[in-house]
Amino acid sequence: MLPSLLSPHLLQRLGVLGVCVALLLPVAPAQAQLNNSRLPNLGDGAEVPLGVERRLGESIAREIYRDPDYLDDPVLGDYLQSIWQTLLASARQRGELTPELEQQFAWEVALIRDRSINAFALPGGYLGVHLGLISAVSSADELASVLAHELSHVTQRHIARMIAQQGRQGPMVMGAMILGMLAASRTPSASSISAANAVMVGGQAAAIQSQLNFSRDMEREADRIGYGVMTEAGFEAQGFVTMFEKLQQAARLNDNGSFPYLRSHPMTTERIADAQARQQLLPSRAAVAITATHAMMSARAQVLANPGVDVLRTLASQANPTTLETARKPRQAGLLYGATMAEMKQRNFAAARQHLAHLQALSGLELSAQRVVRLVSAELALAAGDATQAVALLEPKATVIANNDRATRMQLAQSRVATRKAAQAKLAANELSLWLNQHPRDASAWLVQASAYELQGDGLRAIRAQAEARAMELDYGAAVDRFKAAQSLAHQMASEGKLDRAGHMEASIIDARLRELERLRREQALERGIN
Ligand SMILES: [Zn+2]
Repeated sequence: MLPSLLSPHLLQRLGVLGVCVALLLPVAPAQAQLNNSRLPNLGDGAEVPLGVERRLGESIAREIYRDPDYLDDPVLGDYLQSIWQTLLASARQRGELTPELEQQFAWEVALIRDRSINAFALPGGYLGVHLGLISAVSSADELASVLAHELSHVTQRHIARMIAQQGRQGPMVMGAMILGMLAASRTPSASSISAANAVMVGGQAAAIQSQLNFSRDMEREADRIGYGVMTEAGFEAQGFVTMFEKLQQAARLNDNGSFPYLRSHPMTTERIADAQARQQLLPSRAAVAITATHAMMSARAQVLANPGVDVLRTLASQANPTTLETARKPRQAGLLYGATMAEMKQRNFAAARQHLAHLQALSGLELSAQRVVRLVSAELALAAGDATQAVALLEPKATVIANNDRATRMQLAQSRVATRKAAQAKLAANELSLWLNQHPRDASAWLVQASAYELQGDGLRAIRAQAEARAMELDYGAAVDRFKAAQSLAHQMASEGKLDRAGHMEASIIDARLRELERLRREQALERGIN
């Protein structure tokens, strides 16, 4: 089991960053001050057009999607979305998320496979969440308090103000700086990176961090507005308070290593005073109710963060009769789910099935928790090589799959493909086509779609689906290559008289998409060239 590494991909980019930082450092502090004094009360960040901020965000998101530690886990993704969409609706209702902002920005949350506790907002409405944050919080309310804070940095255009301040260095330099900071926030490890390199990265990171950190006033504003957004969304205010206490405790212990969030969000006396004032307005100090769903998602995040074999064994052994007996039901669910996942990860399928059987026998779980149990049952069946059983567990019986249930769709499609049966592959391709019509930006769904077409021997559609996946990851160069491959296959098939009516239609879609992607690639190259 590999530990979570400081990604070599991001480090590669730090090479470029080294140059930028060397150029920046001598002038930067004075310049920042100058800009600060020249830009009083930059209220709405209006001088940075939304499109410019979005494109800067895309250039950063593109690197994140290519990072091996970027994780598209549909189960955790759906959980995150259930919180995120509720917060967006609240911000919309309150008027902070304007229609223009909503339409022009991405509003996407990316999961990063890292054990440290961090969440960050990027330009253009892209957000990132480390798995460590999900496993460290005790409730959806605590998670919501962090996400609402980050959301408010975006809606209040704090990032735009920062771009304006750093403006003379050009947005691409700022993109490189943000990437460098993200790399430095990752869990350090004794990988191939030399110690000297790591020290250099750390030193640079501190310098960059001081330039990229939001001001104290921005932090207080994000606290204040985030608090309003989360409570009006229906989350417990207590979650804000307990999350704040967690961060404060970590700050007292000076635990910056596992809490990179503290480096970007220092616990200033003003913030603490504000939080205490809010807390005094709360009626009681009743603990936030812990749900089985959250307990299971927290355990899942812990296992997916590649914690090493010792932690996996501990997770498996924690689900013992003595501990379970004294635990309340939500915690029981979390313990049994964690043990199932930990054994599955170690490929101890028999042991995993035993824990799963106990989990399934827990009565009275909320509906969303029952769904999570069904998903892990199918996941275990698939991991153990029984794709047919996985399909049987996931196929809707009397109802249809809910619109927002991406995890069930993705697992069902993957399981159908894994049966290696053409009939199942056809079903998967049809179901995914419906999904992709509504969610064309879903790169992982395009990739499963490509496998489904391959199984049916439909090479043309398979290559096009691969091309779409690359395009949705914003890697336009790779997408153009795949579309060209699809185009030459179509030409070859046509010359051999193998292209039917539907094939001709597919070929013309490929031609049009290739032209579009070539345009996007030119724009991308131009942006990089200018900056
Ligand atoms: Zn903040």
